[in-house]
Amino acid sequence: MSLISYLTTIRFDFGALAGLKDDLRELGIKAPLIVADAGIARVGLVDRLKELLPGGQNVPVFTDTPPNPTEAAVLAALELYRSNGCDGLIAIGGGSPIDLAKGVALLSSHEGPLEQYAAILGGIPKINSAVAPLIAIPTTAGTGSEVGRAALITLKDGRKLGFISPHLIPKRAVCDPELTMGLPPMLTAATGMDAITHCIETFLSPRFNPPAEAIALDGLVRALNNIERAVAQGSDREARREMLMAALEGGLTFQKGLGAVHALSHPLGGLKQVSLHHGTLNAVLLPYVLEFNGSHSEAKYETIRQRLGLEVGASLADYVRGLNARLDMPSTLAEMGVPQDCFAAIAKSAVEDHSSATNPRPASEADYRTILEAAYEGASPRPNG
Ligand SMILES: [Zn+2]
Repeated sequence: MSLISYLTTIRFDFGALAGLKDDLRELGIKAPLIVADAGIARVGLVDRLKELLPGGQNVPVFTDTPPNPTEAAVLAALELYRSNGCDGLIAIGGGSPIDLAKGVALLSSHEGPLEQYAAILGGIPKINSAVAPLIAIPTTAGTGSEVGRAALITLKDGRKLGFISPHLIPKRAVCDPELTMGLPPMLTAATGMDAITHCIETFLSPRFNPPAEAIALDGLVRALNNIERAVAQGSDREARREMLMAALEGGLTFQKGLGAVHALSHPLGGLKQVSLHHGTLNAVLLPYVLEFNGSHSEAKYETIRQRLGLEVGASLADYVRGLNARLDMPSTLAEMGVPQDCFAAIAKSAVEDHSSATNPRPASEADYRTILEAAYEGASPRPNG
């Protein structure tokens, strides 16, 4: 049976942020906690948000969100939420503040510890509708977390786990392309490649959900037509709007499940010895996973080729490699500084990751190892991508 759900209310356009007061009123939030990070505060976005809120200067703000959200940071924000008598959250930023706010929304209404709600530990049915209301305001065009049902949080013991529930979907997404205009080229490229990977992986997932596949393909074409423009010319309003829509569409299709790229990039993103950007990891891994999946996805690969105007049988992996090169993305894990001695542990975590189950070709620990080694050196494991 298919479970198809669309999904939450989205305010989308230049100037969408101005409706924030209405969003709060409609959701019945009287005492919000703002969740951001230091970078967002530095560029003045927290102040701008406060100006839009009733009694704004007194609204509590949590800005200590790490690049990869941690359980400790969730607990610190929860403390602030409780001590201020908050009844809802506004998260502004990339995926990290939004995911962190989802963790706070969960634990403000569900007893700890956090670990018991992790998807791979059987936590999905334990999350109910008591989750506090969250308004998500993305400032990057990539994660799709503003409409996503998952939060990726690194636990105290170092495991980066997915917390998944329809109740974690923000009650409102406010998508204002204006907020992405200042994103520097490298981050525009890396977050854009995350959106592209979401569209490709959800499209290839074997779950039967044709509406989601149509959205994923639309997002993919939109992103591929605009990512280079947005990177080259950050002030291009149309390219920024299209990239934010593509990222949103990638997020709207998460219900199909992701695949091997994310099964690998989740544990790699949890490594303590090196801080790796999620979108950059996906950009580097994507060609190798496309090659691995080729034998199990031929009809869908042909659909993608047609939508992109590529020749019959053209290598999608090579297409992505070319795009990565034009975007100045690294081409190998070695270039990113990923330590090779972690591969055994990463391959083990990848098999256990919640995204692995919906990869179109079942992937074993040994398969993940092969993909990692190929992506480390830049060699092709198979020629049929
Ligand atoms: Zn992602």
